[in-house]
Amino acid sequence: MKKVLLVTGGSRGIGAQTALLAAAQGWTVAVNYAHNERAAQEVVNQILAQKGHALAIQADLMDPLQIESLFERVDQELGTLSGLVNNAGIVDQSQRVDEYSHERLTRMMNMNVVAPFLCAKEAVKRMSQAHGGKGGVIVNVSSVAARLGGASQYVDYAASKAALDALTIGLSKEVARENIRVNSVSPGLIDTEIHASGGLPNRIRDLSPQLPFGRAGTATEVAQAICWLLSESASYCSGTILDVSGAR
Ligand code: NAP
Repeated sequence: MKKVLLVTGGSRGIGAQTALLAAAQGWTVAVNYAHNERAAQEVVNQILAQKGHALAIQADLMDPLQIESLFERVDQELGTLSGLVNNAGIVDQSQRVDEYSHERLTRMMNMNVVAPFLCAKEAVKRMSQAHGGKGGVIVNVSSVAARLGGASQYVDYAASKAALDALTIGLSKEVARENIRVNSVSPGLIDTEIHASGGLPNRIRDLSPQLPFGRAGTATEVAQAICWLLSESASYCSGTILDVSGAR
């Protein structure tokens, strides 16, 4: 049976590697992106070249109406959703809490908390046996920042990921009897473009020597954990927060 997976922020970094690996494991993948159409299409092209099934879908998750239309396009163009990876997320420039603006906090919480909540809501409406669905699986991409705190860089980001972990724990209990599993993956420092987007292009180089492994993780190493949680091999895992942090 065709299994349909939506990966938010599937155009780059951890989301792109998750889309590629999930497609190789038999999922039909909706590759969501906000701005970088070329990167999203490149992920789709790689999947198609391996005889997989995928579609790039633009939607800015800061806009609730675009979230609704994203799920409607998945319904119409790919079929019944049975997997969601709530991956898209942002950081901001390094600041202390006493420097934050209201705009910064609103943007951070809208993107990293409200959007994944709304995506989870749309997914549950389609997957839940209580709504006539067949079940499914949700993986939220959190961060070890939720327990480290992000001091002097981004406490707001850390707090947003702690909220995402609370979504994992609470929602997993709400839908456990409706054949839906909900888990978090908590990456440590991973080599992607997110650090440059927060104004720290050398963050990997600068922090790697201090890490327990002496190196950052790769997006593929996180994708492997996400795809395991998506798989039937994780059939008794729900409400789990799985660190992929190299002992950090
Ligand atoms: P990334 O390389 O910066 O990629 C971000 C992805 O999110 C892109 O596909 C981007 O789409 C998409 N995106 C951004 N804003 C969006 C919006 N408004 N609507 C829809 N999509 C949007 O990030 P990453 O490092 O792979 O991070 C992925 C997740 O892992 C995030 O939740 C992040 O917090 C988490 N994480 C990362 C690390 C790390 O060290 N890298 C560590 C812990 C947790 P476009 O290509 O269109 O811009």
